[in-house]
This record gives sequence, structure tokens and C-alpha cells, in this order.
Amino acid sequence: MGFASPAVDALRTPAKVSAIDERTRRALAAIPSVNEVLQHPLIEDALESLPRQVVVDSVRATLDGLRRDVLGGRLTVPPSVDELASAAEAAARARMRRTLRRVINATGVVLHTGLGRAVMGAEAAAAAADVISSHSNLAIDPETGRRGSRDTHVAHLLTYLTGAESATVVNNNAASLMLILNTIAEGKEVVVSRGELVEIGGSFRLPDVVRRSGAILREVGTTNKTHLRDYQEAITENTAALLKVHQSNYKIVGFAQQVGLEDLVRLGHRHGLPVVEDLGSGALVDLSAYGLPQEPMVQASVRAGADLVCFSGDKLLGGPQAGVILGRCELIEALKRNPLVRVLRCDKVTVAMLEATLRLYMDPETVVQRIPPLRILTRSPVEIEAKARALLSLLSAQARERLAASVEPATSEIGGGSLPGEELPTYVLALRPQDVDADALARWLRTRDLAIYPRVSKDAVLFDLRTVLNGEVEEIAATLNALVASGGVLA
Ligand SMILES: *Cc1c(COP(=O)(O)O)cnc(C)c1O
Repeated sequence: MGFASPAVDALRTPAKVSAIDERTRRALAAIPSVNEVLQHPLIEDALESLPRQVVVDSVRATLDGLRRDVLGGRLTVPPSVDELASAAEAAARARMRRTLRRVINATGVVLHTGLGRAVMGAEAAAAAADVISSHSNLAIDPETGRRGSRDTHVAHLLTYLTGAESATVVNNNAASLMLILNTIAEGKEVVVSRGELVEIGGSFRLPDVVRRSGAILREVGTTNKTHLRDYQEAITENTAALLKVHQSNYKIVGFAQQVGLEDLVRLGHRHGLPVVEDLGSGALVDLSAYGLPQEPMVQASVRAGADLVCFSGDKLLGGPQAGVILGRCELIEALKRNPLVRVLRCDKVTVAMLEATLRLYMDPETVVQRIPPLRILTRSPVEIEAKARALLSLLSAQARERLAASVEPATSEIGGGSLPGEELPTYVLALRPQDVDADALARWLRTRDLAIYPRVSKDAVLFDLRTVLNGEVEEIAATLNALVASGGVLA
């Protein structure tokens, strides 16, 4: 490629050359050429597995950096060719290393946004693989051969499973809300309770999304209490919709009250206004039947008469990142006519994975076992404890002692804005090593080729076995045994 570097220009300009002292001139002359470094055995090795262009660019960048250091007086004796080759090789490998990779989630947070939220099963993976390497009937009508709708693959499943009249999907649930409000309330008011103005993970704040959609936020009630009459008094001819938002990641306890969806629907319909519910996570399966706290059910919102209901694809549903929107036919049709749909539409891989996920819900007898987040949430403490003990038993005697490993009861969080404030009983493998601080050990674990994300609590590194998948117990044990055998971060 060859690019002019300031260092090289400096050498070419006679006035500047004369400004360089003798020692610098000698150091510059000692820098090997690109070709010399390229012939080093380390680099020849690297060329076997890395693109030539990347290796050549790394060598050039390394030599340019060296020249700048010499000219800047930061270096008087250039490193050996061995050292230069090794630095260039490391830079080339770093550039080509895959950065988005599988990790082991030992945080116990079932829907961890930083770790990719829902894990999907083999069905979703197979469906994605099927449409990736060949053409698919993503958006075509087989009868006419003309353009069709990508929604057809999931809408029939969604309406069957929820009782909704119609359905569509977009890129995520934030997009659902944006599309809904922009379509039905642009330039008009949307009434929302002050107790429901949520912020989710910083980048999603309900008031900001409402504003960006072009709608005007009309807040009613107070933080802890909102009454039906508060909504009623806010309705004017400029009102476009009533919006109810699930308090995904917080709870207001004590002297608190929100208006139920049924009452809101009755009020809205009396005034000819659509009622929208953002469920956030939304569950299609009643988790209380498995001893878990109840998360609002999608079917219940549809039954209560909400005109539009939206929720995430990758929270409790256990599918890909997507925003699912259910509702009355004419409203869904209006959403689909909005030009924003072109901006917010899902990719074919998402549609494939969502269809595969929804198909698993068609059999209520097996769904909890086949949707990973549901299976992980409903794991019994007995099963988790057995996994923790299996992990402990796979550690070498040396590792057990050096890391002061033990199995302990603890609690896991659900995450992903689902079941706020609820904690599930779990078991952890706790490490309390004497000679390394818990944060340093956790950092070491997170920066391995196969990264492990544990939880740090005071002086301990905790591996919550709830979220550790099959086969990963052995991998954690191998990493810890290797750490102790090699010394690693241990003093
Ligand atoms: C999580 C959540 C969202 C955002 O959903 P994404 O799929 O992450 O875009 C919106 N509203 C509520 C109430 C949520 O809990």
C-alpha cells in the first residue's frame, strides 16, 4: 500500500536532514527494511495463516513507529530484527483475531445484555444456518412470484399463540415503540403515568423515545400513585393514545398504585383512543407454574383488549434481538405502511431464528425445556448444587487449595428487565485466593481466549452455576487448573 509517513518525509527534506544529529542518523540507518523483516522466520510462519497484506502492513507500521520514536528522541538504539518481527507478528495476529466470540456466563444473570441476552437452542441455530448460505423465500409470494411480506413467517405463529388479530416484527423493542408512536401519535399527545417513565440500560429512556417518535409526552399522576382520573383529566382533542409501560427493572413498593390495563382500555375506548402496552420482556409461558414470580403474560394483555402490545424477542421469549408487535389488524396495517418500517425491519437471520423459537412454543409440554432462558430460570437449586460440586471435584487438589475453593448457596438475578427485584436461590463455586485480589482474578478470567465471566463479591470470585451451560463446567475447571499449574496471575 505504501503511505508517506512524516518520518520518511523528514528524511527526504534536506533542511530537516541537517537538523538530525549523528546519533539519530545512525539509529535510523540501523532500522531494517520491510523486506528484511518479511524474511524473518516468525513472519514467514505468520504468512502461512494470515493475509499477506495484513502482515506487510503490520511490518510497515512497526517500522514507521520505530522511526518516529527515533526522530522524537524516545529511542536511540533500535530493537533487534527478532524483536521487530515479533512485534509485527503480534500486531498482525491481533488485527485478525475474532473479537465477537463465545464466552462462559457464570454471572448467574440469565438475560445479561452485555453477554448477548438470550441463548438460543439448536432449532434456531439450524434455521439461521439454513437461510445464511442459500437463497430463501424471505419476502416473496410463491403463488404470484411477486414481493411478499417477511412477516408471514412469524405472524401466523404469533397470532395463534397469543390470540392477537395481527402481528409484525421489527429490530428490537425500542424500535417497536418508536414505530407505534410515530404512526399513531406524531404531533399529538401520548398519556403515560409518571410511575412508568422507565430507563433501561441508559440508552433507552422512555421520554427520549417518545420525543424522537414525534409524539408529545403527557405525564400524569405521581411517581408512586397514578389514578384512572389522572388519565381521564389529561385527555383532550390532541390526545392520540394511552400508553402503559411495564416497570421492567424496578419496583415501586409501599404506598403505590398504577392503573390496570383493563381500566385503561375501558377509558381509552370510551374516548375512541388506542391503548398501547409496552410489556418489555413479556412472557408467553406462565412462570408462576414453575415456582417463579409472575411476569406479565402477553396473552393476558391481548385478552384485556390492548390495541397494540409490544415486547422484546431476546428477553424472556428466548429468541433473537427483535421487537414483536401484536394488535388489531388495521393498526398493524397502518404500522406496516409507515416508511420507518424500511429502517426498522428485521434481517432474514432474525426472522429465521424467531420463527424457530416461536415454533417451540407450539408445544406447551416441552417449551420450558427447549427454550434455554426458560430452562435456566427453572433449574432447581438441587440441580445447580450438583453442578457446583461437580466443578469442585474437577479441580486439582492444588487448585482447590491455592484458590480456597468452596461450594456455597447464593442468589441469582434474572436481568434483561425481567422480574425486577426477584432473586432466585442458586449455588456458586466461591474462590477466595490469598495471594491475588478478586478483581484481578476476574479480569484474568475475562481476558482468556475462552473468556469466563464470574461475579465478584467483596473478596470472592463466584461462579454461579445457574447460567453455566452443558460442557462448560469442564472448561472452567480446565482453566482454573491451568492457572494454578502455570502461576498465571497468582503471586
Ligand atoms: C427492554 C425494554 C425495552 C427495550 O427493548 P429492546 O428489545 O432492548 O430494544 C423497552 N421497553 C421496556 C419496558 C423494556 O423492558
